[in-house]
Amino acid sequence: MMKKIYLDYATTTPMHPEVRGAMLPYLGEFFWNPGSLYEESKKPREALEEARHQVALLIGARSEEIVFTSGGTEANNFAIKGVAFANQKKGTHIVTSQIEHQSVLYALKFLEKLGFTVTYVPVNKYGMVDPEEIAGAITEKTILVSIMYGNHEVGTLEPIAEIGRITREKGIYFHTDATQVVGILPVDVDTLGVDLLSLSGHKFYGPKGVGALYIREGVRISPLIHGGMQEEGRRAGTENISGIVGLGKAAELARKEMTQRIDHILFLRNRLGDALLKKVSGLYLNGHPTQRLPHYLSLCVECVKGDALTLLLDRKGIAVSPGSTCTFTARKPSHVLKAMGIPLELAEGSLLFSTGIYTREEDIDVVIETFPPVVEKLRRISVMNPSS
Ligand SMILES: *Cc1c(COP(=O)(O)O)cnc(C)c1O
Repeated sequence: MMKKIYLDYATTTPMHPEVRGAMLPYLGEFFWNPGSLYEESKKPREALEEARHQVALLIGARSEEIVFTSGGTEANNFAIKGVAFANQKKGTHIVTSQIEHQSVLYALKFLEKLGFTVTYVPVNKYGMVDPEEIAGAITEKTILVSIMYGNHEVGTLEPIAEIGRITREKGIYFHTDATQVVGILPVDVDTLGVDLLSLSGHKFYGPKGVGALYIREGVRISPLIHGGMQEEGRRAGTENISGIVGLGKAAELARKEMTQRIDHILFLRNRLGDALLKKVSGLYLNGHPTQRLPHYLSLCVECVKGDALTLLLDRKGIAVSPGSTCTFTARKPSHVLKAMGIPLELAEGSLLFSTGIYTREEDIDVVIETFPPVVEKLRRISVMNPSS
């Protein structure tokens, strides 16, 4: 089989070899439970705290403010349900946006069934919320504002620091789902003014199934998972030591290599975007032109279906994502593109390219050659068979 050109780093990233190397001993000889009393358990215990330190350093937090989770999904659920349950005597209203990740939106839908109320603020055509809209949505019942940092479909970066100034002034907790941003761009919880922040290892060359929630000291939050006293009683269950060690190593590498990584992914992303937009007609860039994740190139392709395009590119050896989140079982038009006011027909032709540290210039050149004829072919078919 030919080597695939992988341009789907937004969905997941391969593990960095140093991450795997750091994890291996904890999948083997260092198997001990960090909660045990014998001498050996010091090893995983120290590794756990070293990883916590690395994750804290990456986002400008203190180690005690980091709780490890099973990933971004759990971190989002923990932040939202945990704050809701611990503060419901104070109020039952939450403010979010229309373009959040499913793990935020469905956690909130669940809370709505329990009697909480949620305001979903709109976004502009670039997928950006207006901080004034957030300020206007806050009532005396509001206990939490949750706005994502980088959108997972189009890459737009939200004005988190501005929103943070508003929530601080009003004394309301502020959570951000920074899963697409942490490990890619510099993140500092104090500059952003956030009280809770979600991150995930597999979006920045760490392992899958491990992430963290930053919880600012003093924030009232209930645990999501009850049981033992791991993570200071904030998340029960024997720790995923190898995963956590991998997350810590990924955080350390991201911090050290960040500038070079950004230069690389941005250069290749721009090279691809500039060439495709010049070569192919009826192609539109989604998301903010500048306030955008450096590896994101989300496009709408006129007269073409995004999933058909994805499958045809796959046959040509190129792995990308259809822009709208779609699985084999559920094909739903993207709520993000809809909120941005993109007509459904055009939104169905969305596609996401995302570059990464292992993307090479030659790969981009292959895509620049391959993409235009593939689009042309699909457009010919759709002209012959307009209902498909
Ligand atoms: C990937 C992602 C998540 C989910 O993270 P997992 O670790 O895969 O559960 C949540 N939010 C955003 C914005 C994401 O991109």
